[in-house]
Parts: sequence; C-alpha cells; structure tokens
Amino acid sequence: MSVDNSTANTSIADRLAAVEARIAAACDRAGRARQEVTLLAVSKTHPADAVAEAARLGLTEFAESKVQEARAKIPMCPSRCRWHLIGHLQSNKARDAVALFETIQSVDSLSLARELQKQAEKQSRRPKVLLEINVAGESSKFGWAPDRVLAELMEVNALDRLEIHGLMTIAPYVTDSERVRVYFRKLRELRDAAADRLGAPLPVLSMGMSGDLDVAIEEGSTMVRVGTALFGDRPRLQRAPDESGAD
Ligand SMILES: *Cc1c(COP(=O)(O)O)cnc(C)c1O
Repeated sequence: MSVDNSTANTSIADRLAAVEARIAAACDRAGRARQEVTLLAVSKTHPADAVAEAARLGLTEFAESKVQEARAKIPMCPSRCRWHLIGHLQSNKARDAVALFETIQSVDSLSLARELQKQAEKQSRRPKVLLEINVAGESSKFGWAPDRVLAELMEVNALDRLEIHGLMTIAPYVTDSERVRVYFRKLRELRDAAADRLGAPLPVLSMGMSGDLDVAIEEGSTMVRVGTALFGDRPRLQRAPDESGAD
C-alpha cells in the first residue's frame, strides 16, 4: 500500500482518484459498501483554493486542526463545505469552535464537553461531537483513556446540546500500518461497549489517515481523515505542535 504524495505537480484530482481506489479496495477486502465510509478532506495548512478544488471534485466534508486557521479560511471556502474540527481544543476557544464547526471530533475531556455545552446553549447550536480516544495510551497524545470514557460517558451524554455521534482516534505513527490494526480494532470494540452502555447507536468511527486508512477501513472505520494523500505534503514549518502522528 504505497502512499504517493511526494510529487508536487500531481493534481488534487489525481490524488483523489488514488485515494478513492484505496478506499474501494479496502471496502472490497472487508466486504463493506463504499458508502459506509466518508472521506474527510483534511485541509490544514492548505489554502482555500485547494478546498474549492476538492469541493469541485465532489468532496463535501473538510477538516481543520486549529480554530485560528479555520476562522480565516472557512469564510473563503464554498459555503456547501461542512467543517470538522480534528485538533486539540482549548476551552477558551470553545466559543469559536462551536460557531465555526458542524462537528467537533476532538472532544477529549469532560470539562471540554461541559464548556462546549455552555457555548452551544448560548449560540443555540447543537454540534455533533466525537469523543477522541487515546487507544494506545501514548503520553504525547490527547484523548480519553478507554476505561475513563466508559466511566464518564453518561455525564457527557447528559449534556443535551451535544450530539454524540461516535469515537475518533489517531493511531500511533508507524511505517508498517499492519501494526496499528490492533488499535483500530480496540476503538471499534470500545464503540460497541459505549453504545451498549448508552442504549443508542454510535455510528461514527473516525479512524485512518493517509498512511493507514486501508487497515482502518478493514477494521470498521466509517470516516477516514485524509490530508497529505489528497493535498500533498504540508509545509513543515506550519505544522501544528499538537499534530500527533506526523513526526
Ligand atoms: C493532520 C491530521 C490528519 C491527516 O493526516 P495525513 O497523514 O496528512 O492524512 C488526520 N487526523 C488528524 C487528527 C490530523 O491532525
């Protein structure tokens, strides 16, 4: 499974075709339908032009890591784009995050969830949220420990402005993506346990990125977050310090 993203003059259309082929092949291997997997385009560090081009090619779901970057970029993008926040969110930016994003995938603590509830109430919004899980227990990453999320799930669920749609994880960065299969499987099992506890389905499993989306889909991902394989390499200097999995 090669990830060809090094050629600067490859077009987004060509890269999208290659990503689509990988998604289709993984769905095939897993006996899943292509429609079960949403391709989320991660546009961080890339300009609004690139978003517009991807939207023109039919993509509708886009993601940013930083509130500040999103605040400048989103107004310049086609209005039909739907936006997801995937980077760590500090409570003092919860107000802007609620105003800008339809889905907040990086809800990583009960205190952040409470702040989002407060802001959502003020703004009369109902953001969709995913709970970010640190499945591998890496100290460098944000996210709930699996046992902690089960313990606090009902308290998050009681926050009536937040619609919990599922779970998100960033797998450890490894060169052989087979080695992260176990973490994707763990997230799926945790999702099943959490849905059981809630007595309601948690349909979204946001897992898999440019390097490991194939294995993630085989393990049940319903949303792959793809940046580099779609838009090309990110300029290194602009990388977010909290962007896990990249270095
Ligand atoms: C940057 C980022 C991605 C996309 O990573 P690529 O390897 O460029 O596809 C996905 N998820 C999160 C949380 C990210 O920060």
